[in-house]
Amino acid sequence: LLQIYRPLNMIGFVYRELRQGLTDIEEMFKLLDRDPEITDKPGARPLAITGPVIRFENVSFHYDPDRAILRDVSFEVPAGKTVAIVGPTGAGKSTISRLLYRFYDVTGGRITIDGQDLRDVTQESLRATIGMVPQDTVLFNDTIGYNIQYGRPDASMDEVRDAARMAQVAGFIESLPKGYDTPVGERGLKLSGGEKQRVAIARTILKAPSILILDEATSALDTKTERDIQSALDDVSRDRTTVVIAHRLSTVINADEILVLREGRIAERGSHAALLAQDGLYAQMWNRQREATEAEETLLRTRNDP
Ligand code: ATP
Repeated sequence: LLQIYRPLNMIGFVYRELRQGLTDIEEMFKLLDRDPEITDKPGARPLAITGPVIRFENVSFHYDPDRAILRDVSFEVPAGKTVAIVGPTGAGKSTISRLLYRFYDVTGGRITIDGQDLRDVTQESLRATIGMVPQDTVLFNDTIGYNIQYGRPDASMDEVRDAARMAQVAGFIESLPKGYDTPVGERGLKLSGGEKQRVAIARTILKAPSILILDEATSALDTKTERDIQSALDDVSRDRTTVVIAHRLSTVINADEILVLREGRIAERGSHAALLAQDGLYAQMWNRQREATEAEETLLRTRNDP
């Protein structure tokens, strides 16, 4: 019996490895727009964290040499603070998060964390320090519990449940007949954009990184989901050095500094109140979004109350 059992067991093992490998590769290609040539320098050291303080010093960047994407961008995120980046589509906001994760190297200037140039530290240590909640999370073809536990594979089920609770997704999971054992992904239950984002937040809560990058989803969410996600994100980013790439201005009001990016340059910067008083691009974007929200609310009211 053992002779039959062993190879079968082996096939199961290889299948699981392969399936995991394939989903990882899929996830990499779908999500990670990156330069395959980025490697560790000989003698690269692990990133040593004290703060952590992030600094962009006169950073410029292009994907193609004939088209500048970032030009002379300088800013600092002090330890435990939140900097939000807003601006029109294509301004280069997500590019900033890709550079911070070192999917690409800057073409001018430098980026440091606690004084260490990202090009001098090991990628493994850099990526272990940073937690990223991306715009669009790809779920593994596995259970929803596994998808959360992926943030820290040695986490216990109690820790997974706590993370789900903090990410405001526990109620949804517990309402499913199979709970945390529900299969999700392409071959399982399809989650909405808002649910997937909360699974990504739960994963990040488990990972407990010192630096957080939140790349907010562009897709429209209803007001309640948006509020739930916002309160989950506020909890995760408290006391963590955080960069938020924001599409909805309502999520940046409390940021310590807001950078308004236009055509790869910082066009305006300051707190929400200071930027409104400046009556420039940020104020215009704010007024436009407020009008859109008010129009949506009026529409909903008339629909519910004919
Ligand atoms: P959005 O608000 O629409 O998400 P964004 O401000 O985040 O936009 P980025 O995603 O940073 O903008 O893109 C900035 C510019 O760089 C865009 O014009 C985009 O087309 C271009 N770009 C992004 N990725 C690549 C790539 N891999 N190769 C070439 N150009 C790219």
